[in-house]
This record gives sequence, structure tokens and C-alpha cells, in this order.
Amino acid sequence: MSVTIVLTDAVAAALIEAASNPLEVAGVLLAAVHQNSDGDIRLLVRHHSMVDPAAYRERDRNHMAITPEGYVPALAEAEALGAMAIWFHTHPGLSGTPLPSLADESVDEAIAELFRIRSGSPYYGTLIVSPRETEFAFSGTLQPEEGYGPIRSIDRLWIVGDRWRLMSAINAEDRPPSPIFDRNVRAFGGDIQRALGDLRIAVVGCGGTGSAVAEQLVRLGVRDLLLIDADHLSASNVTRVYGSTPADVGRPKAGILRDHLNAIAPDLCCEAIDAMITLEPTARRLGDRDLVFGCTDDNAGRLVLSRLATYMLTPVIDIGVLLSSNAAGLLMGIDGRITILSPGSACLVCRDRIDLARAGAEVLTPTERKRLADEGYAPALGGTEPAVVAFTTAVAAAAVSELLERLIGYGPDPRPSEILLRIHEREISINRAAPRPGHYCDPASKKLGFSEATPFLEQVWPKI
Ligand SMILES: [Zn+2]
Ligand SMILES: [Zn+2]
Repeated sequence: MSVTIVLTDAVAAALIEAASNPLEVAGVLLAAVHQNSDGDIRLLVRHHSMVDPAAYRERDRNHMAITPEGYVPALAEAEALGAMAIWFHTHPGLSGTPLPSLADESVDEAIAELFRIRSGSPYYGTLIVSPRETEFAFSGTLQPEEGYGPIRSIDRLWIVGDRWRLMSAINAEDRPPSPIFDRNVRAFGGDIQRALGDLRIAVVGCGGTGSAVAEQLVRLGVRDLLLIDADHLSASNVTRVYGSTPADVGRPKAGILRDHLNAIAPDLCCEAIDAMITLEPTARRLGDRDLVFGCTDDNAGRLVLSRLATYMLTPVIDIGVLLSSNAAGLLMGIDGRITILSPGSACLVCRDRIDLARAGAEVLTPTERKRLADEGYAPALGGTEPAVVAFTTAVAAAAVSELLERLIGYGPDPRPSEILLRIHEREISINRAAPRPGHYCDPASKKLGFSEATPFLEQVWPKI
């Protein structure tokens, strides 16, 4: 069981700036609490406010005293947002140790109850940060009121934005990467390799693209995967789906892929779910993931994934491959699209990447569909599109490269949020799109980290 604190890079930048101050700096982070059925907790930081300089009564490089005006306004805001409050402070200096001192522990004892009562949340959190040459080091705790479980350490910190960074608490056990990843480590170092091993990733859609993505992830060192696909393998899928053989025809695609990946990496923690992502219980399973690859063809599924980046601060790499033919039926166009949905970037709806009429038709029951057809309205449904292993694999590899780029940071800054591969023309183009004002993906809509809204993701779910 772990506790992860998820921050946008704007909040992370504010923490880094605070930590670089030679004097101690304090503030309050407001976070939504997302608890999974297995006990993992994610604290989705929605807002931060640093203590007003006028509220410091005393302050030097290893001590401070603050008047209640320094944090009480933030607690009122926490209550208004339905968020918990995390008491943040710095231990300055590159050699500073971000672990609680005895004085910190008595401050926690003094304010924990007040923070919980004023914010209206059963949780009080702490976060201590010290600067480092790059980034920062941290430790933290989640301190619930009685009846909400024990005090727990915040062990992981996941920063999502233009770059993605997964960090472990300073008191976490040091685990060197396995020697099998020697070639990776020579390319990007042990920290990135460790992050790959610690990331919890979901692959939604386990066909030609999803199976190619998942196999590359596992060979790269990803060790925690959730695979979701409601389809079963057909004979014409074996030509593209990695890990499948004719003997697998009729089996669930997700299960075939899980078995294949487990053979590559016996230490892989991998769950396969044979269900539709458009059903709420399946979609909720994505709540504990750090990152999702969208490898599904259906538009209704993409509508769900499109909301994750905003509501759960979970980045999504959405992939599309489209083959088009001329009048004679010959292949003329090979188009791949990789869209990176980070919190604050334009969603798939704002980018016009989802066919909304089709999405509506995909979630109709057969009876509803027949009724609409009888009334003269036949909803558009996708037919069987052409697909070729070389192209699904090429686009999958480009998508996995985008994950590496966001972890390693070797490319241009700012990064593009979409990559378009026109394979037939041997051309690649990139773009960045801004959210439409007022849409849920627009940070001004205040939906970032909204978490457990009812209904889930503020979306209409079909009844099951
Ligand atoms: Zn301290
Ligand atoms: Zn949008």
C-alpha cells in the first residue's frame, strides 16, 4: 500500500522556488484524496498557497514561527474545495535533510486537529522539501483522524505537466536497477530506469497498437501494468497482436497479452481486465494509475480517457492509426497520431479528435439502436478498418518514445502535445493546442484534480 502525491509542474515549480530560499518557507497544499480498493491513496494537489511573508513571527534557515493568519485562509479554501490540507515547509540548503525535526513533530501535534476540523477533511498531511542540484528531495506523511487508518508515509511523488517525474521519498529504500537494464542505464541513467520500474501504467486496448506498446514497456523495465480490453482474439487479429498465436483465437485479448508479458518478465505485476472502459467500474480501475496509454479504436472509450488527465491528473498518451485507400482500394495514406494529454493541455474533444456521433452510437444498447433505426435515424458505427502490423508497430514505438522523452527530457522545450506521422509521405509534424475556454480541460474551469466527483469524471455512465 502506498501514498502518492500528484502535482502539476506549476505546483512543483513553486515548491522548487520555495526550497531554493535560504530561509525556511511554509505553505499549504490543498489536495483531493483518492483511495483505491486495494488501499493505495493518491493525493491530487489542486491548489497551493505559500504563507504571506507578514505572517512569519520568526524565521531563519532552520527555524520559523508563524501566526495563524499564515494558514487559516487556506483552510477555509480547503473546505470550500472539499480538499484536505497538507502543511508544507522547506529545510533549506543543498545538504538540507527533508525529514521532520522534533520541533516539526510538535508543530504537527499542535496543528493536525485544527487543520482537519477547519478543512472539513479527516486527513492532515505534511510535506518537507529540500533543494538539490536538480529537482528536490522530500518526505511527507498522511495523518488521518481516528478511525481512518494509521499515519502513513507519502512514499511517491509524481509530477505531471510538460515533463513527468516520479520521485521516491528520501527515506525510501534504495533499489539499484537490475543488470538486465544495463543498456538502458547507459542511455538514460539509473534514476530514469528506477522510475520506469516504479511507474503504474495502464494500456487500454490490447490489439495491434496496445500489444506493441505493452511489450515495449515491459522490455524497457515497466513492472506494473494494467491491461484492459473487452475483445476476444479473432483469427484476423493474429497478424498484428504481439504474443498471440492461432491457438489463442477466442481467448480475451487482455489475458493473452498478460500471459505473453509474464513470460518476458516473470517479476511483472500485471492484471488483465476483460471489460469495456465505457463502464464505470472499469474506468474507476484507472484511478490508481500514473499514466495511461489509449490504444482503443472506439470513440466512447476515448471520451473517458480524455477526462482522466484533468480529473485524476493522470496523463494519457492516446494513439490512433488510420489507413486510407484510393478508389481502386489501394493503400494511399498511412496516418498515425499520438496525442499527449497532460493536465492543463487540450483534451481530445477540444482537439476534434473524437467523432462524437459515433461515440454516442457506441454506447447504445442493441434495443436502443434498433429503435433509433426504426425512427429513421441510423447512428453511425465504425466498420472494420484496414490495419497492418508494420504501421501499428511504428506508431506504438513513436508513442513509447514520447513517454521516454517526458521522463528523460532530451527534446525541445516546450514539448509538442501531438505528433502526426504521415508515414506514406515520410513526414512528421507536431503541434500544441490550447484548451477551449471554459471546457473541463481548461485550468480556469478548476476541474484539475477534481477526483471523486459524482458522477465519476462528471460523465454520464450507461446503467449496467
Ligand atoms: Zn522542519
Ligand atoms: Zn477540452
